[in-house]
Amino acid sequence: MSRLKRLKSFFDDTIAAISTSLGQAGIGIVRLSGKDALAIADKVFLSKEKTKPSQCKTYTIHYGWIADKDKEVIDEAILTIMRAPKSYTREDVVEINCHSGIVPLRKIFELVLKCGARPAEPGEFTRRAFINGRIDLVQAEAVLDIIQAKTEASLKLGLKQLQGRLSQKIEGLRSQLLDILAHLEAAIDFPDEDIEIKERKRLQQSLESISGEIKKILDCAFQGKVLREGIAVVICGKPNVGKSSLLNALLKEDRAIVTHIPGTTKDTIEEFANIRGLPLKLIDTAGIDKPRDLIDKEAVKRSRLSITMADLVLFVLDGSREISKEDRGIYRDIKDKRLICLINKIDLKARLNSAKLRRLSGARKVLGISALKGTGIKQLEQEIANTIWQGHIGPTEDIFISNLRHIDLLRHCRESIQKTRQAFKEHLSAEFISQELKGALESLDKITGRVVFEDLLEKIFSEFCIGK
Ligand code: GDP
Repeated sequence: MSRLKRLKSFFDDTIAAISTSLGQAGIGIVRLSGKDALAIADKVFLSKEKTKPSQCKTYTIHYGWIADKDKEVIDEAILTIMRAPKSYTREDVVEINCHSGIVPLRKIFELVLKCGARPAEPGEFTRRAFINGRIDLVQAEAVLDIIQAKTEASLKLGLKQLQGRLSQKIEGLRSQLLDILAHLEAAIDFPDEDIEIKERKRLQQSLESISGEIKKILDCAFQGKVLREGIAVVICGKPNVGKSSLLNALLKEDRAIVTHIPGTTKDTIEEFANIRGLPLKLIDTAGIDKPRDLIDKEAVKRSRLSITMADLVLFVLDGSREISKEDRGIYRDIKDKRLICLINKIDLKARLNSAKLRRLSGARKVLGISALKGTGIKQLEQEIANTIWQGHIGPTEDIFISNLRHIDLLRHCRESIQKTRQAFKEHLSAEFISQELKGALESLDKITGRVVFEDLLEKIFSEFCIGK
């Protein structure tokens, strides 16, 4: 379907969906949105007050029954009416609260379809909210983030985005760029009045400051990802150095089985922990050793995969032994990662030569711990937090982008701004400079959805569930 036709069809038809998950529960909701939502409700709802939904005021709730055209009752229901434009979609919205059983929900859904609604596509309610201008694309994506939030921090991030914090920031940058563009366009329209030297300086400074602001946002993107998804921390080291014990110490419970037989953690173990407000996904890998059998081989393969995906690696060494060839082999696999080296078992007699370790690990942070006794665990937690925040303010900061689409477009925007600055420096024509600047503006507009492409909308909204 062409974009225009599709956009237009949004306003022509009325959509319906079962908005709660299908299963036995207290309440289920069938949701309707579109110009016929109230007329359809009139056909299916028998109100106790004998009033028709189409005659009811907005933001009112009504008790009654859902019945088919022969007045046969399907379920007892509460109807919520939200009239356009003050509704989720900015269209007339009716929500039918009924008993959440597969049969009543399906029957009510089929009934509203018979009365003229069509089944909603995934995310179509939110898509209408976007098309009708109630929210921008960043906010629509925030709805998905909220639904999929796995941690409290990611929920907070999603809510801030839904409230428009990121959108406001982007719009602020946009209006600064527009101001510069207006000066350039004036110079194009009136070529005799070339931009004064003083004005040029001001515009260049402005560009520099916008570029700096974008850099600041981009610098926090890793932290944004961490808050949204949690940080993947992989614990690695050869068998028996104390990886499982460390996992337990960080979790403060006996989750991984600790034994003194090397290589007992056959599989990778994943646990979530909240460390200094950071949602951590801790992954205890199987000791990377010479695989003895197929199970070992698979475990080693999984360990390697976890390392590839890790945001941070904790490299554990046994302080009561000298560094071995095996330790060096593991270090080779992880040396390019964000890394903290841990000398475990400091409660035992030290045999590990720290000078040798320093030669191996270079400027990496090295901490001495005893996973068994809990020594140094607090310092390790602090070090994990420091490594993640790296001088950034921390979770109180307002704007953290975490969405790859936003990151990518902001990078493009900054590149275009750098090109614009270069063009200024080289005294290129106002036309040329403004062309580069328009590229930067377009990137920002793609983030908020001022410029939209059908395939992008498809991609974003297809991730939603039906009924949202
Ligand atoms: P993994 O194979 O690396 O997961 O090692 P484990 O956590 O299973 O520990 C292997 C053995 O080392 C167990 O007997 C632990 O009790 C012991 N161990 C672990 N950490 C320490 C420590 O800090 N001090 C001492 N003395 N023993 C430890």
